[in-house]
Amino acid sequence: MADTIAERVVATAHAAYAALPKHGKPIVRDNGVAEWTILAAILVLKDDGDPHLVSLGTGVKVLPAARLPPLGDTVHDCHAEVLARRGFLRWLVAEAGRVQRGEGSEWVEWVGEKFVLAPGVQVALYVSALPCGDASTLHTAAHQPADAAEAFKAEAERRAGEQDAAPAPTEAVRGRNGYENYGAIRTKPGRTDSPPSISFSCSDKIATWTVLGLPGGLLGQLFAPVYLDLIVIGGVKMPEGHNAAEWQATVVAEAERALFRRVEGVEGEPRARSPLTAGLVPPPYRVTRPRIHLTPHRFELSREAALARGAVDPSTSTVSLSHVPCLGKPEVIINGCAQGSGWKAPGTTLLKDKQRSRVCKIEVLRAVVGLQQASGSDDTLADTTYHALKHANAPYQAAKAALRGVPAERLTAEWAKRLPHEFDTTAGGGAARPPFTGWIATGARYESFTARGVVQS
Ligand SMILES: [Zn+2]
Repeated sequence: MADTIAERVVATAHAAYAALPKHGKPIVRDNGVAEWTILAAILVLKDDGDPHLVSLGTGVKVLPAARLPPLGDTVHDCHAEVLARRGFLRWLVAEAGRVQRGEGSEWVEWVGEKFVLAPGVQVALYVSALPCGDASTLHTAAHQPADAAEAFKAEAERRAGEQDAAPAPTEAVRGRNGYENYGAIRTKPGRTDSPPSISFSCSDKIATWTVLGLPGGLLGQLFAPVYLDLIVIGGVKMPEGHNAAEWQATVVAEAERALFRRVEGVEGEPRARSPLTAGLVPPPYRVTRPRIHLTPHRFELSREAALARGAVDPSTSTVSLSHVPCLGKPEVIINGCAQGSGWKAPGTTLLKDKQRSRVCKIEVLRAVVGLQQASGSDDTLADTTYHALKHANAPYQAAKAALRGVPAERLTAEWAKRLPHEFDTTAGGGAARPPFTGWIATGARYESFTARGVVQS
């Protein structure tokens, strides 16, 4: 794809956001503090046609582990990229429904066993800032006081020169701790006054999508893997004393490293491939390498735009937006719930319909089960848990194990002491050490709900 296409992706995403009502967008608070957020969008395009926006998300918030819902009825991770991808899942199911009903889809086809994207369809992700976590670590460090920036740059250059990068830590790193933990999987920082989140950074999640695809385990039953072809990133700032072209090339190289080079090992040497024994990704999964493009166009409600307008110490918006045009009006999400509902502690009684976001786990499950029921498959699906459906997809689980290892060990005391109960962390998984070893698994405890909204023990 030419860069002009990448810039059309940006223009389409910005125009779609600008056309949304004000409700749910960052504001200037009564005390004069300007809010900002991050925008992400997933678009599809065919050949040289216009990009078609299928899902948009804004947000920078994540709920702590103590607020994980056993019924999948709140959205735990409300970072823009994650909301955009969750909306994309709803769009895929909606398009598959059109195919199933004989209405036809411009974008999705049925090829006998699974739905696939129509020939020539490409998928683009736009994010108005470098994804949090590994892809943004160097950029963040470069805008720190000079000492930290220099030390990090020297380390980055040293690593880049090595054939095999030194292994990342075997444990997840909390938030932004330790720039020296280069290549590490990191959890989202969350609020400093709340217990830690166990949601992984957007860099780690996007890198996961480059191997496992966007549909994930649940939709992977119905859809062939769908991969990103293009990632367009905004908000890259020039640190003082750098050459612009060199700096851009460095940031792109960092994004490539964080978003796919970090996980390339899961493919192994082609000749040595024996996926079932070597812990490598089995087909149809593979490592994909989306093209990375940096856009100079600024998102109007980014932190940089607020600063450029003269805002002093702008603050993050606590509100998220999810807009999936095929589902109707945009949705405002606060504390993981659709707005107006108020916060309710996660429990075993399902949140009311209007309180649930359309992109929470149980709503995605309902959409998938609805699609399968409409095709006349067995009616036990409504009583099958999210966890069971996800785990029925053996190649997906094998690919995930190659990437993360398998839940095997208890978290270290330092992690565990601030979490509501013990979580498993992944380890091992074959001959090669999985690149995302140390992933914290939410597991069956939070995925044992059915489409009917019942938790099965
Ligand atoms: Zn993020």
